[in-house]
Amino acid sequence: MSALDPFIAGLPKAELHVHHVGSASPRIVAQLAARHPDSPVPTDPEALADFFTFRDFAHFIEVYLSVVDLVRDAEDVRLLTYEIARDMARQNIRYAELTVTPFSSVRRGIPDVAFVEAIEDARKAAETELGVVLRWCFDIPGEAGLDAAEETARIACDLRPDGLVSFGLGGPEIGVPRPQFKPYFDRAIAAGLHSVPHAGETTGPETVWDALTALRAERIGHGTSAPQDPRLLAHLAEHRIPLEVCPTSNLATRAVTDIERHPIREMAAAGVLVTVNSDDPPMFGTDLNNEYAVAARLLELDARGVADLAKNAVEASFMDTAGKARLAAEIDAYTAEHTAAHAG
Ligand SMILES: [Zn+2]
Repeated sequence: MSALDPFIAGLPKAELHVHHVGSASPRIVAQLAARHPDSPVPTDPEALADFFTFRDFAHFIEVYLSVVDLVRDAEDVRLLTYEIARDMARQNIRYAELTVTPFSSVRRGIPDVAFVEAIEDARKAAETELGVVLRWCFDIPGEAGLDAAEETARIACDLRPDGLVSFGLGGPEIGVPRPQFKPYFDRAIAAGLHSVPHAGETTGPETVWDALTALRAERIGHGTSAPQDPRLLAHLAEHRIPLEVCPTSNLATRAVTDIERHPIREMAAAGVLVTVNSDDPPMFGTDLNNEYAVAARLLELDARGVADLAKNAVEASFMDTAGKARLAAEIDAYTAEHTAAHAG
């Protein structure tokens, strides 16, 4: 618990790197499991807390897949999406670009049109009822190969839901070179979507270069290894290409072995537009507020510094100009009020 925690909790925030199924909190998983009593996932809170206590990365994958298995029909998708927004509202997250993997659901038998309708219904309800603006990044699960890429590009470009703003690439990086996905990113970009692949999380800076050159990345998911290449950091800073940093996730996946030596310091010192995000928050035992607290400690920020970090996310987002101005003003007003209260 730090003195900044209450400030962070009340701070209006934007989240740019957070996954759909990976955001299913124990509360949401219990609701989904209750809809599917044949699932091995427990429904009572205590057993569920146990189930969510991660032993290692293999266990994380096991839990992740059992949650994936609970999302079987369009109503599950709607419930999951809306309830994620409810968890975001509690943290004062006003805007989120949620990474959604339609391929996983379509492969499991949910028709693409029904899937897209379900997330869009939840998006509209979340905005009017909870005050959370959701936008989508449809991502290719890299481990599923080029068929998944083709299917994801098709769903993104043909169905093109109103909330869709970007096109991504997730999954393992080792053995899954980024350039092979160029044709699918080309299509998505031609359809007006922004390019936001994961890169440089578990591989070196050359993967980030690949994402920039082959996939025309406008923002980089993670980019943890970027500081290994000063020329890359300078390029990211000069071209205002933001990094989506997820400190606790990096530690959980061992992309970073010691949180105290997280490269966020080098990124910020090089003038890169750094944003702080939660990735798969309940699965990594975190939330966005905690990620801000971790970043504030690592970067030795005061309240104004934390507010600037929140404004980085606004700037790096794909909101329209008016939306950005509104949220930035909200952050400024909150910060002014907080600092005045603490000065007096
Ligand atoms: Zn991610």
